[in-house]
Amino acid sequence: MKHLPVFLDIRDRTCVVVGGGSQATRKAELLLRANARVKVLAERLEPAMQALVARGAVEHEPHPFRPAHLHGIALVAAASGDTALDMHVAFLARERGIPVNIVDRPEWSTLVFPSIVDRSPLVIAISSGGASPILARLLRSRLEATIPAAFGRLAELADEFRKQVRARFRSRRDRRQFWERVFGGRIAEKMLSGQPRAAREEITRALAAGDIAPSGEVYLVGAGPGSADLLTLRALRLMQQADVVLHDNLVSASVLELVHADAERIYVGKEDGNHALPQEEINALLVRLARAGRRVLRLKGGDPFMFGRGGEEIEALAAHAIPFEVVPGITSAAGASSYAGIPLTHRDYAQSCTFVTGHRRKGSSDEDDEPDWVALARPNQTVVVYMGVGTLATTARRLIEHGRAADTPAAIIERATTLDQRVVTGTLETLPDLAKARAVRPPALLIIGEVVALRQQLGWFDPAEGASPPSHRPPADVGVPRDSHSASAAGSPSASRQ
Ligand code: SAH
Repeated sequence: MKHLPVFLDIRDRTCVVVGGGSQATRKAELLLRANARVKVLAERLEPAMQALVARGAVEHEPHPFRPAHLHGIALVAAASGDTALDMHVAFLARERGIPVNIVDRPEWSTLVFPSIVDRSPLVIAISSGGASPILARLLRSRLEATIPAAFGRLAELADEFRKQVRARFRSRRDRRQFWERVFGGRIAEKMLSGQPRAAREEITRALAAGDIAPSGEVYLVGAGPGSADLLTLRALRLMQQADVVLHDNLVSASVLELVHADAERIYVGKEDGNHALPQEEINALLVRLARAGRRVLRLKGGDPFMFGRGGEEIEALAAHAIPFEVVPGITSAAGASSYAGIPLTHRDYAQSCTFVTGHRRKGSSDEDDEPDWVALARPNQTVVVYMGVGTLATTARRLIEHGRAADTPAAIIERATTLDQRVVTGTLETLPDLAKARAVRPPALLIIGEVVALRQQLGWFDPAEGASPPSHRPPADVGVPRDSHSASAAGSPSASRQ
């Protein structure tokens, strides 16, 4: 270790910054964040530093640096732009044992300013010992992305309750268990998701009950359409904390890989609502696992409230007073739309978009279960059909019967956002046969409407092309109508896994 990492208490101590440029300003701002008194020595100040002086945040002396300026000083930073002056400052500060930082001159400095992730009161400092500040900054941005912005609030909460916890639990082991329960469970989640009052109530209750056993809870989490990059940070965090994960076939392998290695995984589903476990049993299992004190993650493809029966699962939890939270995910319609280059709305072509399911309930009479074809067949709208592979031909026929033009562009997107994505485009009239010829299988989404033609210009994702970035050439398709109003333009089924 080249340097000893320490945290300096400079509150109300005077620190000197030599220089008035942008580097000096950044140092002054940093020192102010740690509540130091800052004195700036420089003849000229850049506007941001002038602003600090104007609002009285820093004291300014327009005189040249003199050794007497170091008297009683806690720390000095120099970025004067004058090498000889900076060197002089370094020499004098070292002689007096005052920590000194010369910007871009680690060899003259006794102190380096780290890259910082500030989740006050938690602070992470990263240093490359001057070897590569850029690398340190890169690491910092990774940490910034993975540590929730509100993380510091957890430390505040801990600080607030520290004494009470100490008084309530005599043994250190119990205290540790209590805090692990707080930080690993729903109290922390409540704090992080912006519900501090609920978090305080809960911790107060747990303290009163002397409760150190892990509390059971369920997180109903959207895993997005497939690509692991499209998970939310919150989903990822919960995936790494869960004791047990219930998932179905819509959750991709690349997403499941991110679940904590020690978590138990329970596969509960097959396809399109056709579950390996009946829905009632999934509901009962969730209740049972949570009652046993486990942190249960119910991971669902896309968004849990979008044709996912997520609502039914948490109704069961609510009925049994099991605590739960819901985390949204990118629904497959949004994923397919972006990754196929088909905007769902467009000022000229579609002022609204309707999401429907192509799945018909078993046992219900046809009529009860029929969508409102008249409404769906109206022009100037996009219709997205979930679970619509099996009923594609009927959907297309019904829409045409109810007045939607037979040459309306339509696309079916299989395994959207993944490396196996395939897009087949055609028209309401041609798509059913094209999809059959290409053996399209679920999970796939059907998009119907003029917007589909925009894929010609807006398509960008072409996994068949491999890792190289796609050139701006529309992805190869099956039967893209060049002119969206010409059914005859739907070409031959020649392409392509994409
Ligand atoms: N809650 C999910 C939908 C569940 S219903 C969501 O928000 O996306 C299951 C249907 O979703 C599938 O039949 C298919 O129509 C669609 N679907 C899910 N993932 C998909 C994907 N990666 N590509 C295309 N369609 C997908």
